[in-house]
Amino acid sequence: MSKIHIISNRLPYSISEEDNKYQLQASVGGLATGLSSVYKDFGGKWIGWSGISSESISKEKQQEIDQLLLAEDCLSVPLTTQEVDLYYEGFSNNTIWPLFHYFAQYADFNHDEWEVYKAVNLKFAKAALEILEEGDTIWVNDYQLLLVPEMIKSRMPNVTIGFFLHIPFPSYEVFRLLPWRNEMMEGILGADLIGFHTYDYERHFISCVRRLIGHEINLNQISTDDRIILVDAFPMGIDYDKFAGMAQELRYINENKKSKIHLELDKFLGDQKDRKLILSIDRLDYSKGIPQRLKGFARYMEQHPEMKGKVSLILLAVPSRDNVEHYQLLKKEVDELVGGINGQYGGINYTPIWYFYRSLPFNNLVELYHKSDIALITPVRDGMNLVAKEYVASRSDQDGVIILSEMAGVAKEMGEALIINPNNEDEIADAINTAINMPLAEQKERMKHLQTRLKRYDLFKWTSEFMKGIDKVKSIQQDFYAKQITASVSDSLKKIYLSAEKRVIFLDYDGTLSSFKNDPKMAYPDEELKHIIKGLSRDKKNIITIISGRDKETLQEWLNDFKVNLIAEHGVWIRAVGEDWDMPVVANKTWMETIRPLLETFVDNTPGTFIEEKNFSLVWHYRKAEPEHGDRRALELVDELTNLIGNENIEIMEGNKVIEVKNGGINKGYAANHFLLSNPADFIMAMGDDWTDEFMFKELPEEAITIKVGIKRTSANYKVKSVMAVRVLLKKLIGE
Ligand code: UDP
Repeated sequence: MSKIHIISNRLPYSISEEDNKYQLQASVGGLATGLSSVYKDFGGKWIGWSGISSESISKEKQQEIDQLLLAEDCLSVPLTTQEVDLYYEGFSNNTIWPLFHYFAQYADFNHDEWEVYKAVNLKFAKAALEILEEGDTIWVNDYQLLLVPEMIKSRMPNVTIGFFLHIPFPSYEVFRLLPWRNEMMEGILGADLIGFHTYDYERHFISCVRRLIGHEINLNQISTDDRIILVDAFPMGIDYDKFAGMAQELRYINENKKSKIHLELDKFLGDQKDRKLILSIDRLDYSKGIPQRLKGFARYMEQHPEMKGKVSLILLAVPSRDNVEHYQLLKKEVDELVGGINGQYGGINYTPIWYFYRSLPFNNLVELYHKSDIALITPVRDGMNLVAKEYVASRSDQDGVIILSEMAGVAKEMGEALIINPNNEDEIADAINTAINMPLAEQKERMKHLQTRLKRYDLFKWTSEFMKGIDKVKSIQQDFYAKQITASVSDSLKKIYLSAEKRVIFLDYDGTLSSFKNDPKMAYPDEELKHIIKGLSRDKKNIITIISGRDKETLQEWLNDFKVNLIAEHGVWIRAVGEDWDMPVVANKTWMETIRPLLETFVDNTPGTFIEEKNFSLVWHYRKAEPEHGDRRALELVDELTNLIGNENIEIMEGNKVIEVKNGGINKGYAANHFLLSNPADFIMAMGDDWTDEFMFKELPEEAITIKVGIKRTSANYKVKSVMAVRVLLKKLIGE
């Protein structure tokens, strides 16, 4: 059975030592809970760092720990203190983290850290390669391991790799700042399925692929030279029942079982019925917007003096990366703001902000969620934000209000929250006021919808959806490989070729015989191609036809010296060897006067594009346009052309970075069949790369051997990867 493995920076266990004996504690975080069932159920391993630097313990102790971990199917990747410093604290947390959260000014671009990041990623990849077997699946997690997918794929192509990024993926304008942006993109693109929390992150990623790497993209499928990669959004859920269950228990808990926090909260709320508690929980991180939140709260206090003594904010700030300067400065700022607000609005029996700088265990967290009337969650940037979801799950009475930043990934799933801009203090203050005064019925109505949704799309659903994504990409890839011309297929093709008496071979030009160039005029035949065409046409049994969308003048100029037939402009013109150009169907061109001005407008407003005028068609080329702009304009152009053309017998053809407008009814399929009428053959073969060639593939007689160049869906019988593969195959046919 093929196995499923997990790889992440940390293993799902922490290690403690008591009386000289080591013990494992299972992590309670979402990732550990969600993925543990995956690798255990599918006989896999979890690969990660144990949290103990390798030089801090003896070899024997390391072995003891490894044994304990192995019993839980975990493999530890040993890291030295220096590696942790440079790869984790350094590159991961001081470069990728700030950059991907749009704090570009905090991002260090340190070459040494990048080198160690690469080396440590390779360590993780190698640890995986030791246990991976062909056909296995591996799920790589998060920003510490962005290079691992490619490092595995290039060494072991036959494993399926899923990658999930747990933080935002920034827009191209920010991502491009990274000096090693291309290596990083290539690293991620080693995966077969790439998952993000939201569609926006997916969109940003695809845009970076388009601009930096230039792979072909169809919706959320990226075509590399040899693979299709799927990109999708999988918003991570929480273990809903765990929070809901605990909250339910708290409703009926005995007085003597209540925690200290619980009793204190009871005391605060018990004194006066209209007292309101606002809750704020996050790691003390600059992405969480804590100072802005505090200022928003202060603004509320300023605007509502009547609420003095009646409303308190619980600020739980979990210590995080406190050896880093930006975090120390943030701590200082938060300390000062809390002190200032408490000083200004507090009294002997009243503390506006209850400030805790620590982390709390699960029970206490749920107590806070359960007791607080309002959750104030206002990150300036957050990949998802699980606290928001946990608050919802813990509201067993279905009351409570969430004030949520539109910059948190979770906001996409929580339309019922009060959505605010976290940089707008007035909006925060207004939202607090709205939340405090929201009628109970409205609170319940909103909470009911949120709970239904989050319960349905919980942590386990998230995991299973990601695994379904893996199955989906596997089946897309299998579809491609099923048609691929392997060595044995090309052997049998050659046998059929050799045994035939008369062979008609149709070859598309651009993208099939010759690679695309930025300037189409530069794609003239090179020496190798000339050699192949000569070799094919020398054989008296062969009738070779170059069938292209190009104009007849270009084809004639480039291919005049060869004994080949030419079909130009997708079938408008045919020139048999030694004869003149002929037009099988009379095409009219009166429509051109209406269409040309529209194309000219698109040339004017889309830099880098131009019009090619053929005898019976007009072509708008956008290969040299800025990629996204060009693609968007192409969609607009097709839309406008469709309106303009109405019922006229004119076709719009969307080729490879071209939009061509031509007379209807004439296409490569029609032209090829027309040609076959006067040239019967016992071997028919057609090769082409874009959808204009699909007419040939569909319309040629059933016995024809049709070959698509590229990996997209096709009605051809076979596929080859590239122009190079076409040439290899043709050379094989002519005995080289
Ligand atoms: N959390 C915790 N103890 C605390 C405070 C928070 O275990 O004292 C947990 C909380 O339950 C949540 C996680 O920390 O699951 C924070 O996740 P979130 O996505 O909100 O933010 P992140 O820290 O991942 O940026």
